[in-house]
Amino acid sequence: MTRLLDIPPSDWPSWFEKKGLEAFQGKIASRQVFQKGVYSWELMTDLPIAVRNRLQQESPLTIANLEKVHKADDGAVKVLLAFPDGARVEAVGMPGTKGRTLCVSSQVGCPVRCTFCASGLDGLERNLAPSEILEQVFSLRETQGDFGRLVVMGMGEPGHNLDAVLKALDTLIQPAGLGMSARRITLSTVAPKGTLPALAAWGRPINLALSLHSPEDNLRHELIPGVRLRGVRETLDEADHLFGRTGREYTVEYVLLNEVNDAVEQAKSLATLLAGRRLHINLIPYNSVSELQFKRPSRERQLAFAEVLRNANLSVTLRRSLGGEEEAACGQLRRRSAPSVRP
Ligand code: SF4
Repeated sequence: MTRLLDIPPSDWPSWFEKKGLEAFQGKIASRQVFQKGVYSWELMTDLPIAVRNRLQQESPLTIANLEKVHKADDGAVKVLLAFPDGARVEAVGMPGTKGRTLCVSSQVGCPVRCTFCASGLDGLERNLAPSEILEQVFSLRETQGDFGRLVVMGMGEPGHNLDAVLKALDTLIQPAGLGMSARRITLSTVAPKGTLPALAAWGRPINLALSLHSPEDNLRHELIPGVRLRGVRETLDEADHLFGRTGREYTVEYVLLNEVNDAVEQAKSLATLLAGRRLHINLIPYNSVSELQFKRPSRERQLAFAEVLRNANLSVTLRRSLGGEEEAACGQLRRRSAPSVRP
């Protein structure tokens, strides 16, 4: 079955024509979906009922069930979507000064198995199609209204499903789609081999959030064991090259793990490595996950680490953690709701 949402909205008129329908009906459909937020053929009353019935049979617009909604005290709302094959993904809407930020998943589970992450505990179940990434956006938009920014930062490593992720982002950016500015989209990646050069070749000015977590190659490979990574310095050089293509400064994401990567000496090594590069550093105090042994550093350790970087004239944010309750930590909702997922 062809999922219409896997096709760029600019091609919907020709897809309708190939089905023996009218091209203008394809334009009506894309306007209804992306501009008006109508996600069901049944509700698309601008189209004849016979066309709607046929499309519902042959190519349903959305196929996921909204299985669970979790509201955290800090205003973050997490949704759990279930697809017909049993795969479950989560997506989050977070409040912010410039409107809500939506956080979507790129895979079911994750092959990267970062040792501090709940999503990595079960490994990869499968990749998501572009339509399944877009369905997360639609579900959050339906439950929480319009949004200002989108981050691909949920379950999964976008670099391992890059074709599908970029197709979904293209749909959001296209004028016939959501018409969203690429500058309001951020892709977070550990940068498996080939990812940053591929983003540079794609060339859209989205923002890069590079998950670094260590200034040292060995520790970084220990923390992020599941993929073939470049060395830390080479990875940063590739990110610099991407900045040269898109003109977008990137963010280095660094999860602070107590007595693992949060020592003042490690902050000094990081400062040396990052000196002279155009970037911002986002320090993220770890959110506890009961299955894992890592701990959040004390506030004193967090501040001392940030201070070293600031003293080296680097731009640093020490993040207030959204979704800080354990239930809302990365990967938790899916794990607790899906006892049948692979061990
Ligand atoms: S932190 Fe990201 S890349 Fe690492 S296992 Fe979790 S979801 Fe995957």
